[in-house]
Amino acid sequence: MNGQDVPYSSISGVVIMAAKDEPVLYVAEPFWRDGWSDLGHGFVEWWQAGSELLFPPCCAFCDADFVPAAGEPHLCPSCLSRILRPLGSLCQRCAMQLPEVAGEPVCSGCQQSRLRFDQVLPLGFYRDDLRQVVLQMKAWRGEPLAAAIGKLMVERLDPRPVDVTPDLVVPMPMHWQRHMSRGTNSPASLAWSMHLASDLPSPVSLLSYRRNIKKQGMLSSAERLRNVRGAFRVSTSYAIKGARVLLVDDVLTTGATASEAARELKKAGAASVVVAVVARAIGRP
Ligand SMILES: [Zn+2]
Ligand SMILES: [Zn+2]
Repeated sequence: MNGQDVPYSSISGVVIMAAKDEPVLYVAEPFWRDGWSDLGHGFVEWWQAGSELLFPPCCAFCDADFVPAAGEPHLCPSCLSRILRPLGSLCQRCAMQLPEVAGEPVCSGCQQSRLRFDQVLPLGFYRDDLRQVVLQMKAWRGEPLAAAIGKLMVERLDPRPVDVTPDLVVPMPMHWQRHMSRGTNSPASLAWSMHLASDLPSPVSLLSYRRNIKKQGMLSSAERLRNVRGAFRVSTSYAIKGARVLLVDDVLTTGATASEAARELKKAGAASVVVAVVARAIGRP
């Protein structure tokens, strides 16, 4: 059902509207339609709706007493200063740190290989406090921290120089077997928090795994690309022709998984895919 040019509503309740002169408007499916991958979303909504009653006002990372200003993330000034460090000069494609005198807009890796996303926007690098943030988000009861970090990402991610204002926020999917073994889905929690903070639609079942993949951690860059090739599916319940997609994940290492997801989204019609991550790994494995 891609490429619709008139409003319609489908039998599943998904409504997708596209005016003649506008690329597409999107309305996400209700969060409960997506089964396992939405358990995190339900928790975030519940947590945000009842946070003042159910949780003492405290920092979501260090647990120190802290009352945030209205709409601000639950992160105390001390944690914010340790999380938000200057990033220096970054590769315009993959956000790898560039040497001070590089002169080139992209790193040597991106000059040789073709990553299919347009840009990576990291909050910081996978080290020190931000590494702890990612590990804590992935752990049991990590959703409140993911919610705070998602809100922070909406506030702080700088889209320049590509300057692609997204049309929708899409979480990097997690295979249901991994979700069951881990118990949390931090990309989904991040994307849902970003959706709430930005009002951008977040069609959580747009992108999913067609099959499970081997863990990428022990694989070389070439093996990672082979491992994820063809692993994703884009739902035909959404018309994404011309859409500028913000793909959300917790960590980006080689970019192989995000690149394959971007390839699939673009094959389905996405105009651009920018990857927002909490932490960019330092160096290539
Ligand atoms: Zn704190
Ligand atoms: Zn690069």
